[in-house]
Amino acid sequence: MIDYTTLLITLKPSLKIILPSLIALLSISYAFKGSSKKSVSAKQATVISTWSLDLLLSLEWKRYEEICKELLQLKYKNRSSVSLTPMGADGGIDLKVTNSKNKIIAIGQCKAWNNPIGVSLIRELYGVMASENVESGYFFTTSSFSLDAIQFAKGKKIKLIDGKQQIKMVLSLPLVQQNRLIKIAIEGNYQTPTCPSCDKKMIKRNGERGEFWGCVNYPRCKTTINARKHS
Ligand SMILES: [Zn+2]
Repeated sequence: MIDYTTLLITLKPSLKIILPSLIALLSISYAFKGSSKKSVSAKQATVISTWSLDLLLSLEWKRYEEICKELLQLKYKNRSSVSLTPMGADGGIDLKVTNSKNKIIAIGQCKAWNNPIGVSLIRELYGVMASENVESGYFFTTSSFSLDAIQFAKGKKIKLIDGKQQIKMVLSLPLVQQNRLIKIAIEGNYQTPTCPSCDKKMIKRNGERGEFWGCVNYPRCKTTINARKHS
């Protein structure tokens, strides 16, 4: 260990000479620190400012829904307004498209999943379309659709949009729109899932069956989300 007192005593006479050079040295090292930080963030910026399937897959479910909403709004332009249904009142619908006469003309479902979407979920969407007398349906997913799901949607007014197609949709937009969507996608904490009941960011917990996302309001709220992102 260095004895700082003796060091200071020995240094004292020459402090007048040493101090300025010490300050200069410190400012140089600070400048270096600053520049290295800058280059890292610039690197990150170039990586994340491009739309890709990886980026789409990294979005938590709520942020993913927001991106789907924006995409659908761009499709309907100003003719109709697209909204996310209120939280907790999810009757199998995530998105609603309402025309100027306040009539629901389309509904949409969004699933930020890794596994393919099976036919049962498409049937459910179709069921809501029929019962609510809605003409069109959209099913967005970060993953893909099973063959029977694709078969079922054929000939019906249901549009299935998988992760790859969604990226194509985004990349075909004008650059201004692409950048606007990127901003919405990655603003703040976009990877930690939100509790569907409390609308608060969840926390990672360890259970008997491995890691999972739990609600910050536990035990009042027992909502959990699979850490492997099935739902
Ligand atoms: Zn909760």
